[in-house]
Amino acid sequence: MARELRALGVKGTLVRAAELGYITELKCGMPKCFCPEEWGGASYFERRPTRSWSDWEPTHKHFPIPKRDGGKATPDNTVLAHRLCNRLDYSLSNGRSIEKDLARVQAARESAAAANLPHPAPAAEAVAEVAAHEPPSPRPPRKRKPEPPGAEAEALAAPKRGYFLLNTDGGNLGRGPGEPLTHAAIGVVLRTRRLIPVAQISELIGPATHNVAEYRALIAGLTLARRHGVRQIRAYTDSELVVEQVNGRSAVRQAHLNELHEVATGLIAHFQSVRLSWVPREMNAEADQLVRNALASLD
Ligand SMILES: [Zn+2]
Repeated sequence: MARELRALGVKGTLVRAAELGYITELKCGMPKCFCPEEWGGASYFERRPTRSWSDWEPTHKHFPIPKRDGGKATPDNTVLAHRLCNRLDYSLSNGRSIEKDLARVQAARESAAAANLPHPAPAAEAVAEVAAHEPPSPRPPRKRKPEPPGAEAEALAAPKRGYFLLNTDGGNLGRGPGEPLTHAAIGVVLRTRRLIPVAQISELIGPATHNVAEYRALIAGLTLARRHGVRQIRAYTDSELVVEQVNGRSAVRQAHLNELHEVATGLIAHFQSVRLSWVPREMNAEADQLVRNALASLD
């Protein structure tokens, strides 16, 4: 358990609490967990992405004696929680508005659905490592959420060796100033380093801005790669904004991109290595064509 937590980037009291047997299950221990089923519910935890926070990363809650009642950060007063659930709980018990946080939950749910995530199992490598090194423990098996229809087909493939190439592109039909958002589409090509095609996506995603479509394409591409058991990726997009933001070189100032940014960096944390680079549009031609194909299906 402590090993699993460490693999998620946890340090300090939480790990100590797990070592001493106070935390026996990788599960959000809040009275009410808000992590969407689409993300895997209370058992889903994200590794802390570099340079940013994630709503679903493991955090520490002083419980059953709350901090405000003098509860200390000791192993026996520690509950594993999602960062956002912890915050929601705090707001709820203080009568503060939780509207904004609920909107984040909703956005996470939509992103998960958009990325067509079956259930991003908590860092597969970490779990495998625990299984290999720890003697069988008497704790009950982790509960699996009921899978959505067709989920069997989405199961993760066996891990693949070596680098794979991922090209992503997103675009929309364009609009005049003041006009409503137009339909957008994503294009994704996953290939081996010898350029042999592995899988591709050409899909409408409904009305969206250009930047949202670019983010959604990257998220769909990473999800696709993960499903194919790919561990190391060289990813290319012609969106400078996505590259700069995901690589942490520029801040995400647009609230509507924040969730997508967090989903993308959360997914990246599951890979052994991801290098995301900008390429000129001409070098992203296949992904660009898949976007056009999808948009052309609207006529
Ligand atoms: Zn939770």
